[in-house]
Amino acid sequence: MALIVQKYGGTSVGSTDRIKNVARKVAKFHEQGHQVVVVVSAMSGETNRLIALAKELTPNPDPRELDVVVSTGEQVTIGLLAMALQAAGIPAKSYTGGQVKILTDDAYTKARILDIDDAAMRQNLSEGKIVIVAGFQGVDADGNITTLGRGGSDTTGVALAAALKADECQIYTDVDGVYTTDPRIVPEARKLDTITFEEMLEMASLGSKVLQIRSVEFAGKYKVKLRVLSSFEEESQGTLITVEENRNMEQPVISGIAFNRDEAKITILGVPDQPGIAYQILGPVADANIDIDMIIQNSGRDGLADFSFTVGRGDLDKTINVLDRVKAVINAKSIESDKSLCKVSIVGVGMRSHPGVAAKMFRTLSEEGINIRMISTSEIKISVVIEEKYLELAVRVLHKAFNLDSAA
Ligand code: ASP
Ligand code: MG
Repeated sequence: MALIVQKYGGTSVGSTDRIKNVARKVAKFHEQGHQVVVVVSAMSGETNRLIALAKELTPNPDPRELDVVVSTGEQVTIGLLAMALQAAGIPAKSYTGGQVKILTDDAYTKARILDIDDAAMRQNLSEGKIVIVAGFQGVDADGNITTLGRGGSDTTGVALAAALKADECQIYTDVDGVYTTDPRIVPEARKLDTITFEEMLEMASLGSKVLQIRSVEFAGKYKVKLRVLSSFEEESQGTLITVEENRNMEQPVISGIAFNRDEAKITILGVPDQPGIAYQILGPVADANIDIDMIIQNSGRDGLADFSFTVGRGDLDKTINVLDRVKAVINAKSIESDKSLCKVSIVGVGMRSHPGVAAKMFRTLSEEGINIRMISTSEIKISVVIEEKYLELAVRVLHKAFNLDSAA
């Protein structure tokens, strides 16, 4: 007998028929003698609908009240799933985050979980009940409803699995696992049987949206055995996210290719090449809550340097406003920007032990005449910024060059 936490996303519970399907799947594990805790999202589209309602009333809803509203989506689903299970003769009990209690800080709309009381859940499980918990929500020390940020039900699932020391946390979604890259761009993309936490974190932070990134961090930290799988395909084992690197020699050096269309590059030309300049430029950008990605500074001539960095495209105008003020202070020549860019990254723990991976990436791109505008690397990732019009081509040729195509 195992203790399993299963999380079902919005599409998986998008209608009462689909909720019945989830009940069937849950029942199967229950019949096999496992203890099951189920975490559910709101029905697909519901959270967006609730946010839109709030915005009809005010452009900037009070965060506490917004959480009161958006947390209702998950409350509907837990009740419906409990009814579906009970109708099939299976004992089940639903809990909101506050009822469990999933204690969070009071950072409304992006709260962090501090503690989970597992007593009631354990009691119900020992009575043979299926426990159903609303994802995405918690309660602060004063009893206010909080939510964990978009996609937060994944984090609820992993956090419950950690608190209950579950044997496995299964995240059911509308894809059957983690792919080498987006199959809409590369039809030859393959589902990975396993991926390491580190790789998954890189893939998630680079825009591969299978799991909320915080849930992966959480699972890595608490060593939760995490599996992503489809709620619609019965046979697939999905993708297991692993700690160990049980890699054999034949495994590809690169596990996946991630990309992000949402890049804008800003260059400040002619900044004095002296201590403190990077801080003077990026300090105000950080103060304006703008996330910076890649940074490059080249020391030019005559004591002047050029300073470039990338931000999300949506932040470009805001960043330029901030920099216009900085420019006068540091006496820079001019500011240039480019928003027709994208980022393509290859990810793989195998690159630690294989030299020449970067060279192969750059050669592959050069053979297609693709100009690399910026480069950044970490131990298990190489990212390039290129023109957005080359995104599909770059991903396809890299996928092939690193032997990720399914035929290979
Ligand atoms: N319902 C929430 C959202 O749409 C949380 C989740 O689905 O994970 O972001
Ligand atoms: Mg989700």
